[in-house]
Amino acid sequence: MSSNKHTVVIVGYGGMGSYHAQLIGENEHLEVAGSFDPLRARQEASEAAGYKAYMSYEEVLADPAVEVVLIATPNDVHKEIAVRALQAGKHVVCEKPVAMSSDEFKEMIAAADKAGRVLMVHQNRRWDEDFRVIKQMYEKETIGSLFQIESRVHGANGIPGDWRHVKAQGGGMLLDWGVHLLDQLLFMIDSKVVSVSSTLSYILGNDVDDGFEAVLQFENGIKAIVEVGTTNFITLPRWYVKGIEGSAVIEDWSLTGRIVTRNSESEHREPTPIRAGVGLTKTMAPPSEGSTITGTLPPAAELPDGFYNNFVAVIEGNAEPIVKNAEVLRVQNLIEAIFAAAEKNEVIKDFDTYED
Ligand code: NAD
Repeated sequence: MSSNKHTVVIVGYGGMGSYHAQLIGENEHLEVAGSFDPLRARQEASEAAGYKAYMSYEEVLADPAVEVVLIATPNDVHKEIAVRALQAGKHVVCEKPVAMSSDEFKEMIAAADKAGRVLMVHQNRRWDEDFRVIKQMYEKETIGSLFQIESRVHGANGIPGDWRHVKAQGGGMLLDWGVHLLDQLLFMIDSKVVSVSSTLSYILGNDVDDGFEAVLQFENGIKAIVEVGTTNFITLPRWYVKGIEGSAVIEDWSLTGRIVTRNSESEHREPTPIRAGVGLTKTMAPPSEGSTITGTLPPAAELPDGFYNNFVAVIEGNAEPIVKNAEVLRVQNLIEAIFAAAEKNEVIKDFDTYED
C-alpha cells in the first residue's frame, strides 16, 4: 500500500459499497484498505476483489492504519457506525440518506465537531450532468428566470432489494431517491422553502412509500414539483422546466432534450385555431410559425471538484466541503416536512432554516 494515499475501509460491502471500491480505485489520493460486512458472502466478495475483509467493526476501529470509514450500510445503522468511527478518530464518508432523522444527524455532526474529524455525506447526484444542465439554466437564465421546475424519476420495477421495504431500516422511496432530488433543488435554488405539500403512494402494499409527489414553494417564487414513482410503465421526462422566456425538457440521463424559447425578433401573430378533440381552440394551438426557436440544451454547470477529490482536500484542510452538513440538515428537515404534510394532509410551513 503506498504511503501517500489516505486509507479507506468500506463498512457495508453490498451494491453501493462495492461501487465505492471501484470508484476509489480510480482515485489517486485514496486507497481501499478493506471492508467490513457481517455477511460471509460479502466478505468473500471483498476478498475476491483484492480487499481485506475485517471480521468485526471493532477490528476496523482499532486499526491505526485506517483513516477513513465509508458507510454504505442500510440507513438505520449509519448514525451508530459514524459516531463510533468519529470517536475513534476516523474521518467519515456516509451514504445518503445520512440518517433516519435530523436529530440523528445532529448527533453525528456533534461527534464530528468533538473529534475534530470530517463527516461528509455522499450526495453524489449533485454531479449528475442532467442536473448540472438545469443548474446552468437557473444561473444563466437561458430560458429566462425559472419559475417552475419539475424533477422526476420513474421506474416500473417496484422497490428493489430487501431492507428498502422495511420502515425500521429507513426504506421507502422518499428516503431513497427523494433525498437526491431534494438535495439537488436545495443546492441549486438560493432561496428558502416557504411551504410544502405532498402525497406518498403505497400502491405495492409495502409499509414504506413506493413513490411520492411533493410540491415545494420557494420564497423567490419558484415552484418545484418532485416526483418519484416505481410503478410507471411509461415514464415522464426527468426534467421539465419553465422560464419566463421559454420551456425546457430533459428526457433522460443521456441528456436527450431541448429548449424552446420565444423568438423576440418575430412580429406577434395570433396562432391559427386548431380542432382539438371535438372542439376548436386558439389558446392551445401551436405557436405561429417563426414565433419560437427550438435549441439544444446548454452545457452543464461545473462544480469546483469531484466528490472524492473534494473530500481529500477537506481532510487535508485545503478546501471547504462541496456537500456541507448544514445543507444536508436542511434536506433532512425538508424530508420530515414532506412526511408530515402527507400524513396530516396539510401544507407545512416554517421548517426551513435557510438564511441568505
Ligand atoms: P445493499 O443491501 O446492497 O448493501 C448493504 C450492505 O450492508 C449489505 O451487504 C449488508 O450485509 C451490510 N450491512 C448491514 N448492516 C451492517 C452493519 N451493521 N455493518 C456493516 N455492514 C452491514 O444496499 P445498498 O444498495 O448498497 O445501499 C447501501 C447504502 O448506500 C444505503 O444507505 C443507500 O441509500 C446508499 N446508496 C447510495 C447510492 C448513491 O448513488 N449515492 C446508490 C445506492 C445506494
